[in-house]
Amino acid sequence: MSQDEGFFKKFHETINSSLDDVTRNNFANLESNAKRVSYLCSLPIVRNYNVIDDLQKCQTGGEFPVKKDLEKARQLKDEGNKAVQKGDWAKAMQLYSQSMVHMPEKETEELSIVLANRSAALNHLEQYEDTLADIKRCLSLGYPRHLRYKVYERRARCLLVLKRNKEAVSAFQDTISSLDEATKLDKEKRQKMRTDSKLMLEILNKGLVLAGNPKDPEPLKKTPPKPKLPGKNNPQYPAASEAIQIDYEEVRGRYATATKDIEAGEILLVEKPHSGVLLAEYSSTHCQNCFIKCPIPLPCPKCPNVVFCSDKCLETAQKSYHGFECHILPLIWKSGCSITCHIALRMITQRKKEYFTSIIQDIDTKVSGPYKTDDYRNIYHLVAHEDKRSKLDFLHRTQMTAFFVKLLEVSGYFDGKPRTKPVEVDELKTLAVDDKYKEDVALFGGLILKNLQILKFNAHEVFELQCPKPKVDKNIIKHEGKSTFLAGAVFPTLALFNHSCDPGVVRYFCGNNIVTRGRQS
Ligand SMILES: [Zn+2]
Ligand SMILES: [Zn+2]
Repeated sequence: MSQDEGFFKKFHETINSSLDDVTRNNFANLESNAKRVSYLCSLPIVRNYNVIDDLQKCQTGGEFPVKKDLEKARQLKDEGNKAVQKGDWAKAMQLYSQSMVHMPEKETEELSIVLANRSAALNHLEQYEDTLADIKRCLSLGYPRHLRYKVYERRARCLLVLKRNKEAVSAFQDTISSLDEATKLDKEKRQKMRTDSKLMLEILNKGLVLAGNPKDPEPLKKTPPKPKLPGKNNPQYPAASEAIQIDYEEVRGRYATATKDIEAGEILLVEKPHSGVLLAEYSSTHCQNCFIKCPIPLPCPKCPNVVFCSDKCLETAQKSYHGFECHILPLIWKSGCSITCHIALRMITQRKKEYFTSIIQDIDTKVSGPYKTDDYRNIYHLVAHEDKRSKLDFLHRTQMTAFFVKLLEVSGYFDGKPRTKPVEVDELKTLAVDDKYKEDVALFGGLILKNLQILKFNAHEVFELQCPKPKVDKNIIKHEGKSTFLAGAVFPTLALFNHSCDPGVVRYFCGNNIVTRGRQS
């Protein structure tokens, strides 16, 4: 746990220096994670702890409270418009994206205008698919009717380039009908656009092929292709190849062996993380959900903290962890907690409270049937070496947990309703959690503390490779370019491989998927 920076360091020191021997002894004698968290959270020194001062002094993680800011959004939009006048479309695209980051969700019309402007920039940058995506978003937000002819026409032209002629026909028809509402467009221009669109419709309806080939520009967005397992999936461990067998022995623990000869470069495992967290410093450049770089970011509509690569990633995150983390994220960053600690919390926020209450009864029984990556119980049973932990180590992690439990309360998690407003400083006057959540503190605090112990041995660093396609040579796989530490994650099937310490494999990442290949046959 790194506590060099962030306000958690002081919290930790204060608690440590004020606990007397009796309290320490009481804590040391506790035998379950739930009891450890409940006990620490009940101590007056923890309950009455005021985070505000530390929070305001702390530089880590940027300003607090952090909110969407209409003025800032407008300023960035204006700068974007200036870049357009200079013909600098790349700069304009970036400024409009920044404007979207700060635009409050309720300003739908203004947001739709920024999206329309960004679609124009993307069109000039020949990013046609992304142009179409922004136009779709802008129309769904109620782009003003008198301006719609612009985006319909842009859509039609994009579709033409992409040779989606059928859709282009209806987009030109939309252009023509929307011109009736273009009240601010002067008569001559309106007439010209109508004539042009009609001409295009005629050509398209006659099925004439337009001269010239569509341009094929380098896409700004690069989604690495997800590798596939060569044969069938392993019936017991679906993320692994059927060429792998995982066994268990009392002395060795779990270990993986090959059931057949493995070719050099053969893919043995493709697994997405059970849980993963992007480092704070990449939160505005990389997708919060799949970790790929986002040159055309889609910001969270509710907070200025994170961006996504697509509507799909945004929706996935919003429906799970980001729904609850949206407004507490700056606090997690400012605490200075390590990425591993954050994963321990995300393992909770990504599933609803009901999920955990339904599995907790039988949590100590191992799951039968296929070993699934998204099943929390599989993570729960990974090695944690709980018996080898020192009392001080427990105390340390329990303090972090006490803070996370408070954050869960603030996030709305215990009520199953994600909060909609940014956190105000006053809400952290004390770390006391309302007594009505006593059971939640024990359950979720206990699980977070357990997660912290498991992750110590099972978390992986996720790297971004500048060259996503590795070259498979005769015996080795070459990666060219440098790799950057981007995120932390836990891969349940890989964790089983890992403990067999097999040097005969190489690993790399495609987005947030980990891929393992054989190194030697
Ligand atoms: Zn993504
Ligand atoms: Zn958010």
